[in-house]
Amino acid sequence: MNEQQPGVADLRQGLDEVDSRIVRLIAERRELIAAIAKVKEHSASAIQDPDRERRVLDAVVAEATALGVSASLVHTIFRELISDSVAQQARHLNGDGGGRARVAFQGAAHAYSDAAARKYLAGRGLEGDLTGYRTFREAADALLAGDADLAVLPIENTTAGSINEVYALLRSREMFIIGEETWKVDHCLAAAADVPLSALTRILSHPQGLEQCAQFLQSLPNAVPTTYFDTAGAMQAVAAADDPTVAAIASPEAAAAYGLVVLRHDISDSPDNFTRFVVLSRTPAAVDLRIPCKTSLILVTGHEEGDLLRCLEVLSGSGHSMTKLESRPRPGRPWEYMFFVDFEGNAADPRTATALDELRAAALFVKILGSYPAKALRAPARPGDVPGQPAAGLAAAQPESSPQDPAEMLEAVAAAPRPAGGRSRHYKLVDRAARQADTVIRVGDVLVGGDGFVVMAGPCSVESGEQISATATFVRDHGAHVLRGGVFKPRTSPYAFQGLGWDGLDLLVTAGRESGLPVVTEVMAVDQLPRMAAAADILQVGARNMQNFDLLRELGKVDRPVLLKRGLSSTIEEWLAAAEYVVAQGNQQVILCERGIRTFESATRNTLDLSAVVVIRERSHLPVIVDPSHGTGLRRYVAPMAWAARAAGAHGLLIEVHPEPEKALSDADQSLSFDEFAALMRRLAAVPSSRSVPA
Ligand code: PEP
Ligand code: MN
Repeated sequence: MNEQQPGVADLRQGLDEVDSRIVRLIAERRELIAAIAKVKEHSASAIQDPDRERRVLDAVVAEATALGVSASLVHTIFRELISDSVAQQARHLNGDGGGRARVAFQGAAHAYSDAAARKYLAGRGLEGDLTGYRTFREAADALLAGDADLAVLPIENTTAGSINEVYALLRSREMFIIGEETWKVDHCLAAAADVPLSALTRILSHPQGLEQCAQFLQSLPNAVPTTYFDTAGAMQAVAAADDPTVAAIASPEAAAAYGLVVLRHDISDSPDNFTRFVVLSRTPAAVDLRIPCKTSLILVTGHEEGDLLRCLEVLSGSGHSMTKLESRPRPGRPWEYMFFVDFEGNAADPRTATALDELRAAALFVKILGSYPAKALRAPARPGDVPGQPAAGLAAAQPESSPQDPAEMLEAVAAAPRPAGGRSRHYKLVDRAARQADTVIRVGDVLVGGDGFVVMAGPCSVESGEQISATATFVRDHGAHVLRGGVFKPRTSPYAFQGLGWDGLDLLVTAGRESGLPVVTEVMAVDQLPRMAAAADILQVGARNMQNFDLLRELGKVDRPVLLKRGLSSTIEEWLAAAEYVVAQGNQQVILCERGIRTFESATRNTLDLSAVVVIRERSHLPVIVDPSHGTGLRRYVAPMAWAARAAGAHGLLIEVHPEPEKALSDADQSLSFDEFAALMRRLAAVPSSRSVPA
């Protein structure tokens, strides 16, 4: 043991040197960025270039993969570096940086607003003197009275929605939005002592905090939720009361600052709980045209039919994409509404200025709240792609095609005229005749349907945190777009492993979040639906439930993509009719999945019906993917059938992958090992898709 000590010390010294080199390289990178910013000062080029950013990320990820370094680690680090560079350039162009600002926020020290305000200042290289006020209005008044230079107020939360009081202040006061900031809200429950949750009698928090944790609070039958002016202030009050039966909801930092014990972490109803803050000033900001900007305004339209549409057409017609439209009651005018609009654009840009003039002409009232550098923008989605191939139009992207080129042969097949054929009696909405264009469904940042090819991979069943996390990282690093994992399992025998249930769902969602992959899991019964829909990104209907009409109808009422597997012995017509049950209730987001059917053939577990792909693509606009794992039941057949599915024009794959397939608690025979999955993905890129031809 003793002999090893110097060895470790030496190694640590080596590590320290590497770390210091990394820091120096970051400094060097920033110097280059500063030089670029200087050059761009005199050019019209935008500081953000998504194509260049993607190329940089692709290049470093490729290099990392070649060196055996986790692609996701490198991706995360470089995302941060790039976003720092953009901020650095924006600061340079706008001449920001240095100086002090007095900032008003609502709440006590360590409130979320306090944290968001500090984040905003740090991003601009500003020092701040921050003052918390009891109410939003007091914070706004402090700004208007000149007691503060800026006010940072929350405007919307991704769980609880818009903060009406702040919207009302924006309408009634002369304040301008000069910036925005986002903060990930991470609520915890804390008390003066480590007491059981059942002992709690009162829970204090800001009404927003209580609202964002409503489901969790319902699980505490003895505790009464009590509103408090602020989250951090509630922690302060609990600390002062010294009554262990009273707890508060706020950030873990606030709990630590007021010396409280955290009883429960992560209690928000939605794990992705973000708040967007606006940064307000008495005067509007001028933002350099090269910085990606948003403009916010309040709009009152006329009362004629189509007035709102005319106003929105002014924006879309001039190429301004809208990021938010919110309707609020007009004070003192019952049943009349005003609209809060955010769109991408800068009022200083002549094109935007013209659009705003036209908007004024089309509306009854327009108040421009400001143009400011955009922070909260939904990431653009892209079609799924297979690593090693361009994203879309795969066959078309093949190099010079010879007549023997398989891509061309497939094109010929796909381009063949369709028989007129009669329409089905069983469905109409999912019929290709009802919608010529392919339905494209957004899942996380990836699009399912249309041009892309999406790979969903993971174990048959979630078995443990380690199993699902390791699989998530591996399949993500090898090109998967969605993580699969069953938690309620439809098993032939009641004595077989039935899945980990809700605990499994938590593990799956955590693994998905940590790897950045959306998740798909099976919902077996109507009563599981609300909780499933809140957590999973895609709800799978298993083969055995394809005609569970009650379940299908309920799935039609939730706003979540549905993965509808083909029944064990269902015809394509029955399958499409089942999809119609979902769509007819309003949810158009159905992905069909061919997973093999029962035939007399016994060499494979099921008979994978790849012809279903071409039939579905002809009869319906819905995306169709293929599950060669259940389709064949034997791992050595999975990859060839996966390649064939892509060639046939499927929109993607569902594949079972397990860190130790032979030990899998379900479907061991058909689960791929990591190496087998990597090999499948490598070859997949070489298979042309017949889908480059418009359907
Ligand atoms: C599954 O995908 O885990 C599953 C149970 O599939 P199927 O419903 O197709 O049998
Ligand atoms: Mn399975």
